[in-house]
Parts: sequence; C-alpha cells; structure tokens
Amino acid sequence: MTKTVLELAILPGDGIGMEITKPCVELVQAALQKAGEPAANENWLEAGAGAYTKLGNALPAETIDGCRKADAILLAAMGDPEVRYPDGTEIIPQIDLRFELDLYAGVRPVRSVPGIKGPLADPRGNQLDFVLVRESTEGLFASVGKGTRDDDQATDTQVITRKGTARVCEFAFKLAQQRKARGYVGEVTSVDKANVFKSMAFWRDVFDEASEGYSDITKKYGYVDAVAMEMVRRPWIYDVMVTENMYGDILSDLAAGLIGGLGMAPSADIGDEHAVFQPCHGSAPDIAGTGKANPTAMFLSGAMMLEWLAVEKGNKNYDRAALFLRSAVDDAFAEGTLVSTERGGDAGVAEISAAVGQALVSLNNNDRRIA
Ligand code: ATP
Repeated sequence: MTKTVLELAILPGDGIGMEITKPCVELVQAALQKAGEPAANENWLEAGAGAYTKLGNALPAETIDGCRKADAILLAAMGDPEVRYPDGTEIIPQIDLRFELDLYAGVRPVRSVPGIKGPLADPRGNQLDFVLVRESTEGLFASVGKGTRDDDQATDTQVITRKGTARVCEFAFKLAQQRKARGYVGEVTSVDKANVFKSMAFWRDVFDEASEGYSDITKKYGYVDAVAMEMVRRPWIYDVMVTENMYGDILSDLAAGLIGGLGMAPSADIGDEHAVFQPCHGSAPDIAGTGKANPTAMFLSGAMMLEWLAVEKGNKNYDRAALFLRSAVDDAFAEGTLVSTERGGDAGVAEISAAVGQALVSLNNNDRRIA
C-alpha cells in the first residue's frame, strides 16, 4: 500500500524564525523516516514583518491558502519592533491566522525536560507534566483594535460567548481523556475569576455544562490569582487547565518559566479544521542572526505537530515519530552538559540542533519510550 505523503505549510517568519525552522524541519523529516514514513512535502510560505516590508502584506492570500490546504502548519516567530503599521501597532499575522483559521484552543504543554533544571527547589518542580489550554479567539483579546480611549478613560471589553467557551472546555475534557488513557490522573481545572466578574461566572457555568459529558474526568476550579500562586508553590498538582485568553496569555509565560524559559516552551493553536504549531517565544530580534537562539521549543512544537497528525490521520507511526523527536530532545539534554545561551551556557542553534540530531540517530527502535 502506498503511504500518504504529508503536506506541511512552513512559515519561518522573522528574526530567529528562519534559523530555528530549518533544523526543525530536518528533524521532523528524520523522525518521520525513522518511524517508517515518507518525507513530508514542504510548502515554505511568506508571512510576517519581512513579508510586509517586501510585499506590503504581512499575511498574503497565497500564504493563507497554502495553510488551508496543508495537513498541518509549522510556524516559527513573527514580528519586528522596527516594522510597524502606519498606526504604530506591531505586525502580528500569527494572531490574525488564529482568527482566520478559527484556532480556538491554545495548547501549552508544561513538561520538564530531564537535565533542564526548573527554578523550584522542590525536586517535583523538575518533573512537571501538565497542559494549559488557552481560549484563543475571544476573551479580553476580542477587544484588540476595538478598545476606546479619551482624555479621561480607556476601555477594553472582555467578551465570553457560550460557543467559544463550550468548545474550548470540551477540547480540554477530551484532552484529559486522551491523557488519562496514557496514565495521567484525568482532571480539568477551570481557571477563572467567577467570584468577581459576570463574564467569568458565565464561563464557569458553561464549563460545568461541558463537563457533563465527561463523567470519567474530575473537574476542579481555581481563581486565576490563586492559581498563579499555586503554579509557583506546587505546580505538579495540575493535569489539564482551561482558561480565558488573557489569563492564558499570562499563565503560559509563567509556565514557560517553570520548565526553563521561552526557548524550551512549545505550543499549538488548534481548531476543528486546522492547527498551527509554534514555539511560545517571539522573533527575538535582539539575538537574531547571532546563532544564539535555543531551537528546542521549535523542535518540541514539531513533535506536537506529529502527535496531532497521528490522531487526525489515524496513523500511529506519526506518534512514533513524535516520540522519537521528543526523546531525542530529552537525550540531548539529559546529562546537563548541553546548556543554551539563554541559560548561561554557550550552546546555540547549531550546537543544540546537532546534539538533538545525533541523539535521534542514536535512538534505538525498541526504546521503551517509543513502543
Ligand atoms: P512576542 O510578543 O512576539 O511573543 P516578545 O517581545 O515577548 O515577543 P521574544 O521575541 O519572545 O519577546 O523575546 C523575549 C526575550 O527572550 C528576548 O530577550 C529574546 O532574546 C529571548 N528569547 C526568545 N526566544 C528565545 C530563544 N528561542 N532562545 C533564546 N532566547 C530567546
């Protein structure tokens, strides 16, 4: 039987984007090959501040079209503080793409890589493995470009809809079920501020309704301020968390700090039809071109993409490819000698890519993590 060839849309974007995308795509292809799958077709597409300067459009129609046609979208980082729209705002086509493709679930896995020490003294702080799901199409971000301002006051309105909340909560419960099947506890925590805001009390009611179809999953609640404290005090208590867009924006950076910084934090923005995989960090213009960037978050985003494709396409080999790539990252860092520049070491894109590539080649097909 001929095997399906995956169609990948690849958007390297700006700053460190291109530097970290090339080795990531090479590793994704190598992982596919190791799992017995053909190489994916690569459709490299332009978007970002560079595209805006060159073409006058940060997200050309051809790019959106290529994304719609792809099986999955791999995006690095976009934006450049030096390149702005005439109204002074920054170019953020990665956010436009979320609205364009209706990518409502922002998935931020918080998993410690062995060998990368987190900031917490308690040893459990180095064995974190939970997921933060951020609603990505509404909340306070619904106000972007719509807020009001005069001399005496400014307003931004938080919009929480039944549809938007129900679908992201359902997503979180399904994710908890998938994790439970892999041995996790099976819990979803609603992170809100239901004690203060009408919009958040509404969110919690819709969360409760969504939970009804998932009697095998335990539901919990946390107020966002208390959760911020618990994420520092004992983050290992969480399994899956689901929250409004703005709370999710803030807590996902806090979560990245727990696993070693932005260069270690992958993410996905998932809708019913499409999904974009990209590291949590931005284009890091301050280090672009120096080779100092840590490409690990990009590699782990590539692994998330393969894992998502396994479910979408019903092909377990993509899961194996994801496990190969993630295990190669773990092995590269395990001894603690590979230290990225953001953590005070001297390993940048070239060194980390080479170490992960070598670890991937060395991985045994019978490794217990891959089975
Ligand atoms: P955005 O708003 O687009 O998320 P940002 O302005 O918050 O971007 P980043 O581009 O993520 O910021 O950069 C924040 C800081 O983290 C910068 O000092 C940058 O050099 C550093 N940084 C970001 N990503 C990496 C990486 N992969 N490796 C090393 N340092 C990084």
